[in-house]
Order: sequence, then structure tokens, then C-alpha cells
Amino acid sequence: MSGGEELLRSRGLRVTRPRLAVLDVLADGGHLEVDEITRRVRKRLDSVSTQAVYDVLGALSRAGLSRRIEPAGSPARYEARVGDNHHHVVCRGCGEIADIDCAVGSAPCLDPDTAHGFQVDEAEVTFWGLCPACQARRSADD
Ligand SMILES: [Zn+2]
Ligand SMILES: [Zn+2]
Ligand SMILES: [Zn+2]
Repeated sequence: MSGGEELLRSRGLRVTRPRLAVLDVLADGGHLEVDEITRRVRKRLDSVSTQAVYDVLGALSRAGLSRRIEPAGSPARYEARVGDNHHHVVCRGCGEIADIDCAVGSAPCLDPDTAHGFQVDEAEVTFWGLCPACQARRSADD
């Protein structure tokens, strides 16, 4: 049994070829748009509709096997790194996204001083700035 099959079964999800293919694509890392995921899935499976990929991503996200992020002004992206409440830094120049760890071994952002009685399970923190490539391009323009 592959790692993907085990993951799906562990969350009570039926094992299907599109689900395995999407998991496989996400396992390569990064924060991928649906178009990119679909393109890579089609290299593994003959024909998969974009809608089918959306459906799979929805099921995987609900099951906690993928994480969906949607920085302002950018299409939704998906990643396989889940469950650690890590944050993201987004480049204002090119849209590049990188991971930023919450404090190792804990997630202090999940313990606000007051949560108004809510039980908090995720803190969506997005840092904005310029990536190294865009910084270099900007100083070259000066
Ligand atoms: Zn950039
Ligand atoms: Zn991430
Ligand atoms: Zn944090």
C-alpha cells in the first residue's frame, strides 16, 4: 500500500486514482494553484477535469490532508504541509509564497489573550513584503 493510500484510508476517504495523483503532486511541496495541480495531475492520469481536481482538493482539505490558503489578490493555493499552523510570507512583486514557522513545538498565535469564548484552532497570519529576486530587480532599476 502506498503512502497516499494509507493517508486516505486513515481519514476514512475512499482511495481513487485522482485522489492519489493530487496527493502525489502536493507531496512535491510548494503552494500550488489549481491550474498547476491539474497540469501535473494530467501527466500522471490520462484525463482529469479541472472540476474533478477541485472536488478532490475540497475532500482532501476537509479531511485535513491538504491546506488551502488564499492571500488577498491571489487565487487559492494548496499545499501538503498541514497541522502545524505555519504562516506565509507573500511577495508583493511576483506573488512568490514561502513558509514561516510558528514557534517550534507550539503555536503561540493560537493562544490569544482573549478569544471571546471561541475555541481557536487556526491562526491565519500572512506577512507581506518583497522576495529576494524582486528586491534585486528593484535596486537594479534605481
Ligand atoms: Zn518577488
Ligand atoms: Zn505553507
Ligand atoms: Zn504563529
